[in-house]
Amino acid sequence: MRGIGVGTGSAAGPVARMAPPPPLPAPRAVGDPAAEAAAIRAALGAVVTDLGERAARAGGPGSEVLTAQALMAADPVLADRAAALAEQGTDGPHALAAAFDGFRAELVAAGGYFAERAADLDDLRDRAVAQLLGLPVPGLPDPGHPYVLVADDLAPADTALLDPQRVLALVTVRGGPTSHTAILAKALGVPAVVGCADAADLADGRRVLVHGTDGMIELDPAPEAVERAADRERRRRERLTGYQGPGRTADGHPVALLVNLGAPHELAGAAAADAEGVGLFRTEFLFLDRAEAPSLAEQATAYRQVFAAFAGRRVIVRTLDAGADKPLPFATSADEENPALGIRGLRTAARDPQLLETQLAAIAEAARDSTAQVWVMAPMVSIPREAAEFAARVRAHGLPLAGAMIEVPAAALRADRLAEVCDFFSVGTNDLAQYTFAADRTLGSLAQLLDPWQPALLTLVATAAGSAAEHGRPIGVCGEAAADPALALVLVGLGVTSLSAAPASLPEVRAALATHTLAECRELAALALLADDATTARSRVRSSMTAP
Ligand code: PEP
Ligand code: MG
Repeated sequence: MRGIGVGTGSAAGPVARMAPPPPLPAPRAVGDPAAEAAAIRAALGAVVTDLGERAARAGGPGSEVLTAQALMAADPVLADRAAALAEQGTDGPHALAAAFDGFRAELVAAGGYFAERAADLDDLRDRAVAQLLGLPVPGLPDPGHPYVLVADDLAPADTALLDPQRVLALVTVRGGPTSHTAILAKALGVPAVVGCADAADLADGRRVLVHGTDGMIELDPAPEAVERAADRERRRRERLTGYQGPGRTADGHPVALLVNLGAPHELAGAAAADAEGVGLFRTEFLFLDRAEAPSLAEQATAYRQVFAAFAGRRVIVRTLDAGADKPLPFATSADEENPALGIRGLRTAARDPQLLETQLAAIAEAARDSTAQVWVMAPMVSIPREAAEFAARVRAHGLPLAGAMIEVPAAALRADRLAEVCDFFSVGTNDLAQYTFAADRTLGSLAQLLDPWQPALLTLVATAAGSAAEHGRPIGVCGEAAADPALALVLVGLGVTSLSAAPASLPEVRAALATHTLAECRELAALALLADDATTARSRVRSSMTAP
């Protein structure tokens, strides 16, 4: 099977599939209401037992989440309501769904902490309905041994509980090179193949060998093939241990190597990584799955933890990037026809200024007690006025460095004007590709257009980097492009001054930089810009590189 390779290396193991939520069958007449009610109670009991067992195996914070969910499922009022509906003639699945939906509405109405649990109830409803119908339990599998996770696609909420010790590799049917799955795979440091339509037919337990570099999946691999892949992986890791410390080209030109950080469980690994700081702190995790924004105090606590872990180092905080692939009930509207082109990113702050004010106040409060060098940047900046207003608000909170992400073509084209009003840039190549090629970044079928080697995308990076240099402004890349060692050389050749990626991607990037001079990076950049298409750009640059 073939899809789009993400991350490096290969891994073999048995498939465990993520089951989708069960569809509610058409309503049916109930012959024996008492039996229907008993089946409902049994299904809820099975959910409680299953969650309890998972909690015992999970340990740590994952265990607490699962135990809390088991307690909700064990609530007798819930079982009584569903059973009462069944006794009045509603079939089991619909009685369960109605009882859960009623509970959900009450929680949402209660607001605050309770409302934030609404998503947990949806998950419980799906589990209970699946138990009742004898279907696989939805959500992350737990086969009791390490596995290759196969899913249709992965959303951030699916992956919060994903155990990096158990997931050997990721394979998704949908998704492109900049989808959440791709970002997650790099964060976990595991190989992944995304956009692999054939993976829809992969059965649980089937052994596969997943190659993240070229997107191949071998079915039922021979033991020798698995051993060869493991051997290649060992040699690759050994080779990389020879390169450490701050990023530099072979002739000593500094290129800061930074980490992307998107969830609390990534913090320890990110802080321990050989990196000069955080190039992209995605703050959305604090806001996801909630009915209202977190308070100033709660945000400040979360930011303080990150700043403490990176004491003395740079932390670039990105303010809330809601909308499109990260919808939030309190920040984005559900009725936009084209959410990727709607009120998202910094635009949500224009509609609800208090959201940004609270976040900036929390960042400033956390930064005050810390030695971390805190830089703050806005997502989805389109025009200089937005950047100027944002920078003024950041500075009003006593935060000295305000930047703009360059992820809309207009911002790249007018970076000279943006540079007059803000202190630094960070190029988000994931969205910049989406908007340059009018190609939804979540669609695997558009992967060719979203390829970060597209010369048009590189031309925009070159334009922005040229403007940044003229104004003496640092310009980083924090999209997935920065994780590709060959492309990293091209980006440096185009004038990029820092690269930010998942910690697991940095050693390869560091080694590539250490074995090429700045002049060589510039030559490689020129080769890529002259190519007619992404494939040619990639192969020309790769064949002209010196192997580290
Ligand atoms: C990007 O768009 O490249 C980026 C880094 O931001 P995100 O992936 O979080 O949208
Ligand atoms: Mg983006």
